[in-house]
Amino acid sequence: MAEHLKNEPSDLAAYWMPFTANRAFQRRPRMVVSAKGMHYTTSDGRQVIDATSGLYCVNAGHGREEIAAAIKEVAYRLDYAPAFQFGHPQAFELANRLTALAPAGLDHVFFSNSGSEAVDTAMKIALAYHRQRGEGQRTRFIGRERGYHGVGFGGLSVGGVPANRRDFGTLLPGIDHLRCTYDREHQSFAIGEPEWGRELADELEQLVALHGASNIAAVVVEPIAGSTGCLPPPKGYLERLREITKRHGILLIFDEVITAFGRTGYGFASERYGLTPDIIAFAKGVTNGAVPFAGTLVSGDIHAALMTGPEHAPEFFHGYTYSGHPLATAAAMATLDIYRDEALFERASTLEEVFADVMMEMQSMPIVLDIRPIGLMCGIDIEPSARGPGVRGYELLQRAFHDHDLYVRVINDTMIVAPSLIATIDELTDIRDRALGALKSLS
Ligand code: PLP
Repeated sequence: MAEHLKNEPSDLAAYWMPFTANRAFQRRPRMVVSAKGMHYTTSDGRQVIDATSGLYCVNAGHGREEIAAAIKEVAYRLDYAPAFQFGHPQAFELANRLTALAPAGLDHVFFSNSGSEAVDTAMKIALAYHRQRGEGQRTRFIGRERGYHGVGFGGLSVGGVPANRRDFGTLLPGIDHLRCTYDREHQSFAIGEPEWGRELADELEQLVALHGASNIAAVVVEPIAGSTGCLPPPKGYLERLREITKRHGILLIFDEVITAFGRTGYGFASERYGLTPDIIAFAKGVTNGAVPFAGTLVSGDIHAALMTGPEHAPEFFHGYTYSGHPLATAAAMATLDIYRDEALFERASTLEEVFADVMMEMQSMPIVLDIRPIGLMCGIDIEPSARGPGVRGYELLQRAFHDHDLYVRVINDTMIVAPSLIATIDELTDIRDRALGALKSLS
């Protein structure tokens, strides 16, 4: 067998793994070697059910042959096309399809390779837009506590995850954070958007009063905070943010890196809320996770404001070598075909209620402090161990994988279930039963 296909690597020391407890991993690795449908095959030959669509990206299930075939075809025909000053047809076709899927009015898209890049691109577009319109003093951004916007300096700065920010100094200046909308006291075990918390959006008015609207470029939020525990927005909260930002000429950027492509039953969560932000960042599900790819959708107004200057010069000095890479655009086109042909967004919508019911059954465990299902995503908080925050969560992750054939994302002491949109009801109950087994085994 080729060296790179061996199930057990000879040495684990050289690869520095991202967002991973590296030393513990090396002592007891969790290795997967193939995937099909809802399951991973582990290096020791077990079938492990994937409860979190990889990292919320494999929305159409693993091992989709249509996507693999599209990637293979283009890899032979056009391995790379220069991204700057030259194009290839599929990038334009894909832009047309994505803007058709997006909320009306978001009719241009800038391509990148990761959610982090899509968010940083969104922030740069916001700054450039204001500058072009003679409002270059609008440089402040407002994020939200427990927001996750990737790990570029822009997204990290508007993000509200203390551990991610801690080691990197002051980050971007001029950033404020809205309060997190989650408060267990008011909304525990709520299904979908909680009733409590809409008024937290009014804090934006206080920040506007403090800094002056004319200094604020944009508000950046996830419609549903995903990575930090699945925190659905209170009813009316996002609508209120839209209303306040519009009134003050502040751009509203939705980070839909997790929530797009069916996770909430719609192409974009914006549609679920009947809202049109000025900019949307997306990634993950756009290629079903098969090739790194992302994008930033913008309104016609923003685009028009930046299409100025001499004809021979780039209008916007930004881009990536791999923006609109042929392999990524091929994967995205094939993925969008699957979503359409199998009506997977509608399927997610149909499954939402039963998914919530199945997840809520974990309420029977005293160790479970809260359950927050919305769309096909659910955060389950467990009681932290007296040994410290995250200790029990890490134990859960390990027990689930090694003893219960369950892959699930765990952050601190929160387990996040976000299955592929192809999941059957039997697979949803299987995920729950395996999770319950792992929970029961915790010390
Ligand atoms: N934004 C959100 C909402 C995310 O959930 C993530 C990743 O989970 C990102 C941005 C960063 O994406 P990436 O890891 O592709 O850079």
